[in-house]
Amino acid sequence: DEYILNGTKTWISNAQFCDLALVFAYTDPGQRPKGMSCFVVESKSPGFTSRPIEEKMGLHASPTGEIILEDCRVPAGALLGNEGEGFKICMSMLENTRLSCAAGGLGLARACLDAAVEYANNRQQFGQSVARFQMIQEQIARMVVEEEAARLLVYRAAVMKDMGVPNNRETSIAKYAAAQAANHAADEAIKILGAYGYSEEYPVARYYRDAKYYQIVEGTSNIQKWIIGQDALGIRKANR
Ligand SMILES: Cc1cc2nc3c(=O)[nH]c(=O)nc-3n(C[C@H](O)[C@H](O)[C@H](O)COP(=O)(O)OP(=O)(O)OC[C@H]3O[C@@H](n4cnc5c(N)ncnc54)[C@H](O)[C@@H]3O)c2cc1C
Repeated sequence: DEYILNGTKTWISNAQFCDLALVFAYTDPGQRPKGMSCFVVESKSPGFTSRPIEEKMGLHASPTGEIILEDCRVPAGALLGNEGEGFKICMSMLENTRLSCAAGGLGLARACLDAAVEYANNRQQFGQSVARFQMIQEQIARMVVEEEAARLLVYRAAVMKDMGVPNNRETSIAKYAAAQAANHAADEAIKILGAYGYSEEYPVARYYRDAKYYQIVEGTSNIQKWIIGQDALGIRKANR
C-alpha cells in the first residue's frame, strides 16, 4: 500500500520551495522506459529533502535546487496514472513545456532587439546616433529577421497544439530557432550597447546570461536538432 522512493535529481526549478513534486521513478528498471512511473510526492514526506543551487549564471529570479529522496515513503495513491506510464506522462509534459520555453526564448530575443534599437537611436557618436552606422543597421536587421522567423515558428507550433495536431517536430524547430535567436540577439545587443552592454545598468547583460538557459532546458539545442534531423532523414518520425 505504499512505495519507497530513492534517488536524487539536481537542477529542479523551485525544488526548495515546492509543496508537491512530480517524481519519475523506475518501478520496474528492467523495462527501461516502460518501467518508469510517475508519483505526486509531498515535500513534507519523510525522506524528502531539498537544497538550493546557490550560484548559477543567470535566471536569478527563478530558484533552482536539488531533491534528495532517501527511503521516501509515499502512499499507493501518490501514483499518477498506472505503473509504467511515467515516460508517457513525462513526454506529454515536455510537449507543453518545450513550447512555452520556445516562447520564452522568443520574448528574450524581442527584449534584446527593443533594448538595442532604443540605445542605438539615443547614443550619439561622431556627431550622429550610432543607429546611422550601416554596421549597426546590419546587426539590427539580422536580429529582426531571426526574431520574426522564430516568432512565426513558435506561432505555427502553438496553432498546431491548439488544433490538437501532433506537433513535436514543429515545437522542436520553434524551440531551437527561438533559443538561437535569443542568444544571437543578446550577443548583438551587448555589442550595440558598447560598455553599457557590459554593465548591470542596462538589462542586456542579464539577457545574455538568461539566453543560455533556452539552449539547455526542455531538451538541449542538440536534442532538438537530433529530433529534427532524424525526422528529416526518415530515421524516426517526430510526429508519431
Ligand atoms: C536553470 C535550470 C532549471 C532547470 N529546471 C529543471 C526542472 O525543473 N526539472 C528538470 O527535470 N530539469 C531541470 N533542469 C535540467 C535541464 O532540463 C537539463 O540540464 C537539460 O535537460 C540538459 O541535461 P544535462 O544538464 O544533464 O546535460 P547533458 O545531457 O549532460 O548534456 C551535455 C551535453 O551533451 C549534449 N548531449 C546530450 N545527449 C546528447 C545526444 N543524444 N546527442 C547529442 N548531444 C547530446 C547536450 O546537448 C549537451 O551539450 C534545469 C536546468 C537549468 C539550467
